Amino acid sequence: MIDTSERGIVIKEEFIPLSEPCLGGMEWEYVKECLDTGWVSSAGSYVDRFEKMAADYLGAKYAVATVNGTAALHTALLASGIQPDEEVLVSTLAFIAPTNAIRYTGARPVFIDADVETWQIDPQKVIEFLELKCRRINGELRNKATGRRIRAILPVHILGHPVDMDPIRAIAHKFGLTVIEDAAESLGARYKKGKVGHFGDVACLSFNGNKIITTGGGGMIVTDSAKIARRAKYLTTQAKDDPVEYVHREIGYNYRLTNLQAALGCAQMERLEDHIAVKRRIAATYSEAFREVPGIEPMPEAPWAYSTYWMYTVLVDRKRFGMDRKRLLAELRDMSIQTRPLWQPIHRSRAYRDCPAYRCKTAEELNRTALSLPCSVGLTLDDQLRVIEAISGLARP
Ligand SMILES: *Cc1c(COP(=O)(O)O)cnc(C)c1O
Repeated sequence: MIDTSERGIVIKEEFIPLSEPCLGGMEWEYVKECLDTGWVSSAGSYVDRFEKMAADYLGAKYAVATVNGTAALHTALLASGIQPDEEVLVSTLAFIAPTNAIRYTGARPVFIDADVETWQIDPQKVIEFLELKCRRINGELRNKATGRRIRAILPVHILGHPVDMDPIRAIAHKFGLTVIEDAAESLGARYKKGKVGHFGDVACLSFNGNKIITTGGGGMIVTDSAKIARRAKYLTTQAKDDPVEYVHREIGYNYRLTNLQAALGCAQMERLEDHIAVKRRIAATYSEAFREVPGIEPMPEAPWAYSTYWMYTVLVDRKRFGMDRKRLLAELRDMSIQTRPLWQPIHRSRAYRDCPAYRCKTAEELNRTALSLPCSVGLTLDDQLRVIEAISGLARP
């Protein structure tokens, strides 16, 4: 990017990406070991080690590695026994993966709004929907409008911040619903005293390149249930019924993670707490600076939350700041600073417009105003100050 200042001096500005992986630990060594020993594929000690590290970190009994987070979600839904034509409550303001995974099983999403305070799924609206819009028939909870059985709640902890899990767990318990956590964006975040990924019946993680730790591509199913773990292992390994003979009772999937990727995962797990500390420091610097900038509202952290600030995001108030987030994105792009809006609320998407959505206005408002800022673990203070100065400089004088 070439920038010409008033004096005609040409200054080359380095591109500041939104978020880049940080591979600063034992990655080379562990991967080299795989190459040296030939253990590069779906068997090998790093897969077991990575699973154990993830389970231990979350305090869970079992973990099953998968090829990516979406496969983990698909498997978790299947292993929880979700049936075609059942319904699963899910956040409308989230990445599309959990909703797609619901559809892969033949079940259907019911979209729930975001909470204005935390931007996470609104537990009050989950409760309202279940209490007012559903009724129990023969011990099963059914959506009055569609007649379909409600089977599960799939809260997505977005942007590094936890969902308010207590009310969700309580209402799920009351109606006998399964809770499947999508912790892909919030590994290491804490809700009250516990880590997210250990509040439901089963949780899913992702190690895609943009996540707080990465294996290039990868995922994990984490659970305390031996039954779910066994089923997950079975389904992700082509549903093999005999260790030697190729015998199958059911349709399975090849959703395994390779030893090479797991080697990366072990090295990254060792760095996780450091990554979180850096992300929190980046967030604190931004939030402090934006106190001085009218119309830029920093990302929230609820009193009961310990956020990893995986993806630092602000709200842009068009009137007070002087431009909307679309314009701000374009201005920053012209300064070689990459930013990104949040996802289109999924109930608005062409793909899912026909699915039920319950009072999703807050998600739409957040989508209009939210912008994620550069927050790589490797972001230098100089680069961060450049982002801050760019935004302050664009604010209405
Ligand atoms: C990244 C992500 C996933 C999983 O993505 P994969 O790319 O399949 O690993 C799932 N849910 C959310 C909320 C995500 O952000």
